[in-house]
Amino acid sequence: TAAAAAIERLVRDIPDFPKPGILFKDISPLLADHDGFRAVVDGLAAAGRGPDGTVVVDKVVGMEARGFILAAPVALALGVGFVPVRKAGKLPAATHQVSYDLEYGTASLELHRDALAPGDRVLVVDDVLATGGTARATLALVGRCGAEAVGMAVLIELAFLAGREALDGLPLTALAVS
Ligand code: 5GP
Repeated sequence: TAAAAAIERLVRDIPDFPKPGILFKDISPLLADHDGFRAVVDGLAAAGRGPDGTVVVDKVVGMEARGFILAAPVALALGVGFVPVRKAGKLPAATHQVSYDLEYGTASLELHRDALAPGDRVLVVDDVLATGGTARATLALVGRCGAEAVGMAVLIELAFLAGREALDGLPLTALAVS
């Protein structure tokens, strides 16, 4: 697909970022390329449509920070609203909060309590699915609002980290797999 080709061409591997031993997928060159950006936004948005092309989601949720860059144009492409999931302490109104384990320590993500209504169908969008910790916490936050995640869409699935297992069977659209 055009999206897979754009990712192959425009995402670069940065060794030892953010720490030694990690090979980081840097999507900046992809975002800076209009045709590439367009292709991946279209590819991600397809995860929010049914087989006949109808939009099957009510909201697109994106995670800080690179998830925002992708989820917002996906929401506009689908004609629905965008909802941010943020690191603890950033959202101003009443939130739900979920903590999750990192390699060293824990982190927390938050979602405004009134950002999703019970029964809302949600597409979750992020740039990279790695261990799945971020995705699992986000899905828990969606559930705390009584909303229903119907799919997750990412640019790149790092398959060796098995993050897919954190999704408990939720359909995953990965435009590329490493
Ligand atoms: P996980 O929680 O699945 O281990 O990590 C996924 C989160 O960390 C995503 O929000 C993603 O933005 C970030 N992430 C982890 N590894 C990479 C990477 O190699 N490249 C990029 N761009 N983001 C990464």
